[in-house]
Amino acid sequence: MDNNASGGCKRCLLFEMAGKEDVIAQVEKTKNLLSEDERAADKEYQKRLAACKECDKLMDATCLKCGCYVEIRALSKAAHCPAKKW
Ligand code: SF4
Repeated sequence: MDNNASGGCKRCLLFEMAGKEDVIAQVEKTKNLLSEDERAADKEYQKRLAACKECDKLMDATCLKCGCYVEIRALSKAAHCPAKKW
């Protein structure tokens, strides 16, 4: 984790954050709404999340450019990074 002065966690994905179990459960439910055809391949998904973890727009698992939880946005095959990083 990489906490900043305001208490938010830069470079954190939801599954890495303690005390967010309710949000994680909701995100997992949302991820499960995507069909297999709509999902990015696992290798692509991991590559996207790795890019997000290196990005200065990531805060508390949320992209500050688009407002999405990156673990949901990156899972959609059709989605793209608003900063064109993936
Ligand atoms: S979606 Fe793009 S802009 Fe947003 S946190 Fe990930 S890499 Fe950064």
